[in-house]
Amino acid sequence: MELIDGNAIAASLIAELKQSVATLEGRAPCLALVRIGEDPASVSYVRKKEKTAAEIGVRSRVILPPPTITQTELEGLIDDLNADPSVDGILVQSPLPPTLIEAEIFRRIAPDKDVDGFHPLNLGKVAQDDPTGFVACTPAGVMELLSRSGVDLAGKHVVVLGRSLIVGKPVALLALQKRAGANATVTVCHSGTHNLAAITRLADVLIVAIGRPEFVTDQMVKPGAVVIDVGINRVPDDTKKAGYRLTGDVHFLSVAPICSKITPVPGGVGPMTVAMLMRNTIRARKRRNLSLTP
Ligand code: NDP
Repeated sequence: MELIDGNAIAASLIAELKQSVATLEGRAPCLALVRIGEDPASVSYVRKKEKTAAEIGVRSRVILPPPTITQTELEGLIDDLNADPSVDGILVQSPLPPTLIEAEIFRRIAPDKDVDGFHPLNLGKVAQDDPTGFVACTPAGVMELLSRSGVDLAGKHVVVLGRSLIVGKPVALLALQKRAGANATVTVCHSGTHNLAAITRLADVLIVAIGRPEFVTDQMVKPGAVVIDVGINRVPDDTKKAGYRLTGDVHFLSVAPICSKITPVPGGVGPMTVAMLMRNTIRARKRRNLSLTP
């Protein structure tokens, strides 16, 4: 079994991105990070994004509106960022407080600043095999992790467990695309799937994103499969200083010995997500340079 080291792969990607920012014409790329509320995971994700941006030479502007902000006020804030020529990318950290309609906020972000890739236009471009849009960061990170680990999906059976708009659906569409590195046969499973284990056992490559700690056991995996665990779950653990430990959606101890490659949690897909956000922000900056050229 080979461990797919997301930290190491993301570090080499970040070094490449740093180089690309250093050679960029004009001002540094700028990413606006909007976080509302104090959800501990959101606080830590935004901090990590800020830190990685600084490391690469991407400017970040963190905006912390009060949790009482209304839908109209937040849409006004997005409109201002859309119109601001010094901002290249906009990210609104999910989840938003329940008083706000997340899908409408994602739709409000100008598609050419939508570095999170959740705008319907960018999701539609993934479905159309059109590379001019922004691909959502976690699915893009999964594809990058696979290609940099020497896993070619062509002709393989990829089973995706989970159908969220953030991970499951876009990663299934990416694996299905008719292009080098993809071109897989794809099955998507969800909470309504019958005989789940019989289907996951058919996977040459199993991508799991369901948010259920250690749900996938060795009984659900074909020996020799590649397993990508997207899940990040906080499980209470009194032996840890923080009072919890992080675990994936895959029962690593039983699955790792039977598969050919597997991502750990933490240190697998997570670091790639942040690296892909930076790549999208730099792309947004470069595209603005081009669109400003007469
Ligand atoms: P969602 O809750 O939006 O979606 C979960 C999906 O899993 C749904 O499609 C749901 O089915 C399906 N599902 C849930 N339970 C079962 C079950 N028992 N059997 C089969 N299918 C099931 O989650 P996300 O996609 O947003 O996130 C999934 C996980 O990935 C989470 O742990 C999250 O923290 C993590 N994550 C990690 C990221 C990273 O950077 N590594 C980034 C984003 C998420 P249905 O549609 O029928 O309800």
